[in-house]
Amino acid sequence: MSLQRAEASTLFCNRDFPRRFESFGMPHRALIGLGGNIGDVEKRFSRVLRYFVKSGLLNPLRTAPLLKNPPFGFTDQPDFINSLILIETKLDPHGLLRYLLWVERRFGRKRSFPNAPRTLDLDIIFFDNLQLNSRRLTLPHPHFAQRDSVMIPLRCLCADDPGPQCSQ
Ligand code: ADP
Ligand code: MG
Repeated sequence: MSLQRAEASTLFCNRDFPRRFESFGMPHRALIGLGGNIGDVEKRFSRVLRYFVKSGLLNPLRTAPLLKNPPFGFTDQPDFINSLILIETKLDPHGLLRYLLWVERRFGRKRSFPNAPRTLDLDIIFFDNLQLNSRRLTLPHPHFAQRDSVMIPLRCLCADDPGPQCSQ
């Protein structure tokens, strides 16, 4: 990550990010990346968490702190908020992707051009320890290791660090 970009990024938290949840013993684990920069993104992320719980198809185990960070690619747009949710799921990788794309649409996502402003982006960063390269799905998610939006919250998730000025 570039020093300049990392310095422009700010970690923060609320009652749902970071947070721990109970396991229901579903067979697969996946790390989901969340992003958005239109409207009240923080509130939308909390609604997505509750939506996941109600689905019965996947269950959150842990969330990371939130990261406010500048856009890349198309830079003339509001800052993004990003975070991660570690989930357990009954779905297979393509089933999970289909479900997440459906949830994106359900939360108002429109696709216009690459890196465009968005209400909600849900990416699969890891699925178990699978490596896969199909027409619709690449696992692990390509370039995740170069993205502050993934690596900064991931460091907190792995270190069990709630982030600055947050208490669990
Ligand atoms: P991005 O997340 O890169 O900004 P989009 O959200 O528009 O782009 O996703 C475009 C396509 O990327 C999806 O329709 C999906 O088929 C594909 N894709 C490939 N691998 C993944 C992955 N690991 N997670 C989510 N989408 C993926
Ligand atoms: Mg995406």
